Amino acid sequence: MWLLLRPEAKPDALLAYLSEKAIPAHALQLGERWAIEIIPNGYLPEAFLRWEEVEKVIGPPRGAPLVTQWKGELSLGAWQRGKGPLWIAGPCSVEEKSSLLSLATDLQAVGVHILRGGAFKARTSPYAFQGWGEKALDWLVEARALTGLPLCVEVISEKHLSLYAERNVDLLQIGARNMDNYWLLKETGNLGKPILLKRNPQATLEEWLLAAEYLLLSGAPGVLLCERGIRTFDRTLRYTFDIGILPVLAHDTSLPRIADPSHAAGHWRYVEPLALAALAAGAEGLIVEVHPDPLSARSDATQQLTLSQFTALLEKANSLYTTLHPISPA
Ligand code: PEP
Ligand code: MN
Repeated sequence: MWLLLRPEAKPDALLAYLSEKAIPAHALQLGERWAIEIIPNGYLPEAFLRWEEVEKVIGPPRGAPLVTQWKGELSLGAWQRGKGPLWIAGPCSVEEKSSLLSLATDLQAVGVHILRGGAFKARTSPYAFQGWGEKALDWLVEARALTGLPLCVEVISEKHLSLYAERNVDLLQIGARNMDNYWLLKETGNLGKPILLKRNPQATLEEWLLAAEYLLLSGAPGVLLCERGIRTFDRTLRYTFDIGILPVLAHDTSLPRIADPSHAAGHWRYVEPLALAALAAGAEGLIVEVHPDPLSARSDATQQLTLSQFTALLEKANSLYTTLHPISPA
């Protein structure tokens, strides 16, 4: 690890102190500036910023070894990683049983692999619809029994985890608001199920990957990283879709990466272009909000697609994916 000193600072006083503390160190001259290479011997790297002379502590990177080394294969229902794109779709909130069952049947028929739906909702306003909770989980379980589609449901509190475990929810979603709720991450990873980890709109890549590290460390067999838009100065769309992070994820990690164009766009009109752009940038799949009657939705009514809008999107998405990842002849 290196301590980069301020341009005018000299290393001598600091070297003497480090030697007194038995911290191995030696000075390096970098052009006009000095740096000190040290073995921190259990001291926190950032502790060295306490010295006036130190401008920056460089490396080692705060590691995410399980993320770095993850080589696992992942299958969910009919989807197998690397064999084709992953399509997850369903309503923002599960609102009514019969329309959920018929939507699930339609989604399965058009090639969706996983049914999503919110049971307990994390809403900005405490007066907004909070979800039907356990009842909604039961309707989702019925939809799974009817269609064979695995379920993706967001977990928002440790208190509900036993309800998810009892119903064997196939893919647990950690929402944007909880990406850095570390104790929830640990408890959720502990269920031993794969996890769809949304990026917090404020999170750097490092913070996002460290959240994935928490999940893998606590027992999740796999984590799907989901870009869903970040917060920037521009509020034209609901969030700024960070398309550039997708090729970086492909380069820096082996975890599956998918995109959520619905929450990024905030408006149905922009969902399809963002979805296609995400696939072009290397997303391995999409999670899209689809509602039987978006106009009457109790949450995210503006952005949810109708079944026919979604079917049109999926047709283009399938054809784009095939163009980008042609199946090589055997
Ligand atoms: C959701 O998927 O319903 C949701 C609330 O998304 P996000 O956590 O990305 O806001
Ligand atoms: Mn939503």
